[in-house]
Amino acid sequence: MADIKVLPKELAELIAAGEVVERPASVIKELVENAIDAGADKITIEINRGGITYMRVTDNGSGIRPEQVRTAFLRHATSKLKTKEDLFKIGTLGFRGEALASISAVARVELLTKTADSELGVRYVIEGGEEIEFEESGCPEGTTIVVRDLFFNTPARMKFLKKDVAEGTAVASVIDAIALSHPEISVRFIKDSKSILATTGDGKLESAVYAVLGRDFASSMIPASSETDGVKVSGLICKPVYCRPTRSGQYFFINERYIRSGVIAKALDQAYKSSVMVGKFPACVLNLSLPPELVDVNVHPAKTEVRFSNERVIFDAVYYAVKNALAQGDTRPTLELKSNPIVSSPDNSFQRMTVEDYKKLVDKKKTERTPTIAEQIYNIQVTPQKKTTVFADYGRPLVSDKEVKVAFTAEPTFRAEEKEDYAPLFHESNNEGKLTEAAVNLLNMFSDEKTEFVNETILPEEEIEFIYIGEAFKTYIIVQFKGSIYFIDKHAAHERMLYEKLKEEGVVEVQTLLSPVAVTLSRAEHRAVLDNIDLLKTAGFEVEEFGTVSVLVRAVPASLVKVDVMFLMCDIAANLVKFGKAETEILDDLYHNIACRSAVKGGNTQSDAELEAFARKLLANNEIMYCPHGRPVAFELKRSELEKQFGRTQ
Ligand code: ADP
Ligand code: MG
Repeated sequence: MADIKVLPKELAELIAAGEVVERPASVIKELVENAIDAGADKITIEINRGGITYMRVTDNGSGIRPEQVRTAFLRHATSKLKTKEDLFKIGTLGFRGEALASISAVARVELLTKTADSELGVRYVIEGGEEIEFEESGCPEGTTIVVRDLFFNTPARMKFLKKDVAEGTAVASVIDAIALSHPEISVRFIKDSKSILATTGDGKLESAVYAVLGRDFASSMIPASSETDGVKVSGLICKPVYCRPTRSGQYFFINERYIRSGVIAKALDQAYKSSVMVGKFPACVLNLSLPPELVDVNVHPAKTEVRFSNERVIFDAVYYAVKNALAQGDTRPTLELKSNPIVSSPDNSFQRMTVEDYKKLVDKKKTERTPTIAEQIYNIQVTPQKKTTVFADYGRPLVSDKEVKVAFTAEPTFRAEEKEDYAPLFHESNNEGKLTEAAVNLLNMFSDEKTEFVNETILPEEEIEFIYIGEAFKTYIIVQFKGSIYFIDKHAAHERMLYEKLKEEGVVEVQTLLSPVAVTLSRAEHRAVLDNIDLLKTAGFEVEEFGTVSVLVRAVPASLVKVDVMFLMCDIAANLVKFGKAETEILDDLYHNIACRSAVKGGNTQSDAELEAFARKLLANNEIMYCPHGRPVAFELKRSELEKQFGRTQ
């Protein structure tokens, strides 16, 4: 073991800086938060090249007194926290006293600052932690910080930065959140000399939402407010019909700090539960004000994660605020149980029932079932819970000797919605079709002559010999092939085949839309779409700029003409905003999206001939059968297993 030594100061500084400064967006977040803490009501942010070469934040806040300037750049130097007790009731955005020290350790920083009571300000230059200049200087009240050449002295960190576009998008997202959380501050954002955002600073949340999220958004919002147990909730939520395919439109703030929170998201979901389609998410801007001691923001330097001392209180406050707002603001009828529902009674005559009776009836229905054909024939009684299933429950085969005795069930034993309950037979992606433990268990159980899984290549389709048996639940194709029965999920299989084809050939056919579709996006999404116009074109989407938050979709891949273009574009845009993706990844995502939407759906009707042809294609291609991306495409039930079930073999 080498000697143990205390790290040299410069090295320790660089390590510490890494915690706070990860990318331009984190620098901007720190600098803008400082400006807010300094009481500014006008903040201008400018970046070039995604912020990597140049970032500037100018505010009209308190400024820093000349003799304090050097101190501000020392680690753990802060004016916001004095005693241990303060840490538990933080009212400012900053408190660690680390940002300026960290930023100046890994970039070239120039500061201009002046307070109201001093005549002259200070110009201070510090690069890689080294003071370069300190001089008196005439300047307006407030502070300007310019940060150049981020990570110039730490090339290893530099390598982790994404393309300028992605970094710029990340900065924009930070600014969007800040602008929304402080409608009383006029926030301007300039990117590569173009003005991207300007909020009025009139103190109205509606104005900020209008500027950041666009007009459509602003006009679809319902105000929400409530106060429960000292937790005040206020803000705007969207009408259920305007819910979107992702959570990208959800902004939560606690005491004006942008945060992420599972509890709040859950409360929001619950409140919308009966009025929104599965897979769609409400958009909202919700501010929570609560006594600082109820929330711990000191969880991580990036500070978007928080801890609550009582999650229940937070959940309830959000839930009721949203629920009430929906009840008052949403004019669309929602599907809710009336207190005296009219239900169809077993003998089909209509009658009024009390809620209690209704519930009882529903429960009864759940347990009641008609005897299966096998039961009718053999006149036997079978407990419904006992199911034969060939799926494995995460490594533990569900098939036990006891359960296997019953081979018929009233309920389908495999349903698409239940897929999470089943262990996948193949490892998710990247693992070249390797079997999971669950699958191996299953195989060991089913076969005496341990099956060899061969990854043969693609076989000529006409040579495939199989018997098409049929389709179950309009979702699963059943075929007999090489001594086994195969159950094929038609959607998953089709999606996978289309995806492979897209990867190989790209989008071959593009369809110009009869009339172009205008799609309104959030600002961040709008920017992301414009930044990726060429990639979108490669994937078959012709999109152009259309106003400040809308785009015009002129053409889509031919297989998607029937799809709701607006919904599709929203989904794609939301995906693009998840920054940090390489170009190939983005294209891959797009292909996935196209494949998924073009594929046949479970529940759709296809002719037997179609399904048979489809199964043939699939069986000919081992790679698809055995190497699905994500969830299983098919699974196999061996003849030996069937025979075992019927007691033909031991
Ligand atoms: P923290 O914000 O955690 O206190 P920082 O390193 O971000 O730590 O800033 C150190 C100190 O510098 C702050 O506490 C504040 O007093 C001062 N400061 C930083 N930025 C500004 C600004 N824009 N205007 C006025 N004072 C500032
Ligand atoms: Mg700070």
